[in-house]
Amino acid sequence: MAIKLADRVTSMAESATLAMAAKAREFKARGIDVISLSLGEPDFKTPKHIQDGAKTAIDSGKYFGYPPVNGYADLREAIANKLKNENRIETTPEQIVVSNGAKQSLANLFQAILNPGDEVIIYTPYWVSYEALVKLAGGEPVYITGELENEYKASAKQLADAITDKTKAVIFSSPCNPTGSVFTKEELTEMADVLKKHPDVIAIADEIYELINYTGNHVSLASLPGMVDQTVTVNGFAKGFAMTGWRVGYLSAPLHIAKACSKIQGQLTSANCSIAQRAALTAITEDLGPSKEMANEYLRRRDLVLELLNELPGFKNNTPKGAFYFFPDVSYYFGKSDGNTTINTSSDLAMYILEEANVSTVAGEAFGLPTSIRLSYAASESELREAIERIKVALAKLK
Ligand code: PMP
Ligand code: GLU
Repeated sequence: MAIKLADRVTSMAESATLAMAAKAREFKARGIDVISLSLGEPDFKTPKHIQDGAKTAIDSGKYFGYPPVNGYADLREAIANKLKNENRIETTPEQIVVSNGAKQSLANLFQAILNPGDEVIIYTPYWVSYEALVKLAGGEPVYITGELENEYKASAKQLADAITDKTKAVIFSSPCNPTGSVFTKEELTEMADVLKKHPDVIAIADEIYELINYTGNHVSLASLPGMVDQTVTVNGFAKGFAMTGWRVGYLSAPLHIAKACSKIQGQLTSANCSIAQRAALTAITEDLGPSKEMANEYLRRRDLVLELLNELPGFKNNTPKGAFYFFPDVSYYFGKSDGNTTINTSSDLAMYILEEANVSTVAGEAFGLPTSIRLSYAASESELREAIERIKVALAKLK
């Protein structure tokens, strides 16, 4: 008989984005020509000067031992300088913890701040792992859901109404995965005004798509008056520098929270990979040109995909202002059938599109909004054109 697993893992949802990516790989291994629009992963290579940063670090022979648990001092200093100069966040190198991706930054943080039963308000639709990581730490997710009409951004009033005496934290991403929405300075100010009335509630601002922001105006919640001691800013190198596989993320937090995250990391993973940290130092201290070029290319694709998606009957689209996702409402197809398969949910539709059009997407259920699907446009123009044409043909069969 198999050993019984822990409740915490049996009750945990698998990462839907990674699961769909695995399914797409499985199809490809069977010889099926799948176009993958499921995983939020840049299709660019890590810029050459960053690769060289890693090579130089290896050749120097200086970086083969355990790094400090919270990250190399020069990297934390560079991150603190970036946050101070570019984001207007008052922080210090001691308040920075470098981790194995922003995902681990978030995992450490929830472990550090949550006791069983503590509530975390999650701006919905949300990135898949927020819910799972909150639950893994014993917390209770509470959802505030934005409407398509307001680019899926929940209002400050919704936030105020959701806060209880059990609320420990609030989390959102801007630019947002999965909607591509960006909170304006006015919206963040309204959010801050609510939060300042509840100084025991910690705001978690996930800014990992900072460099892919088409509004030209990234505002950090922690930069707003009175918010720095109440905000944890999470960021990383995966998206803006096309470094998903290098696994470097970080957070900047009030000192006692940063120390708690570091303590947890010391027991879990010891530190982030030494060479990856040296590459990250190159990324953050040198030329941002390649990152800007990538962002310009994502913007061109955003425009193309919006035009193509608008041609799909029944798709209700917002215009993303950042990141590289569309999150159309597809509920028009619920109840329709091609004679074999009836579509009742967005999971049904995502599976139908995979089987019938050989395009992988992710069902909205995973992001807390079951009326949508997510399409990543981190793919080439020809793939995007082909994928949406295939989806169009498949959808036309649903009556
Ligand atoms: N936050 C958001 C909003 C994301 O989309 C992702 C996905 N990469 C992460 C955090 C985690 O990033 P990382 O790859 O650095 O762990
Ligand atoms: N964040 C990306 C996504 O949403 C990568 C996958 C993941 O980390 O879950 O697709």
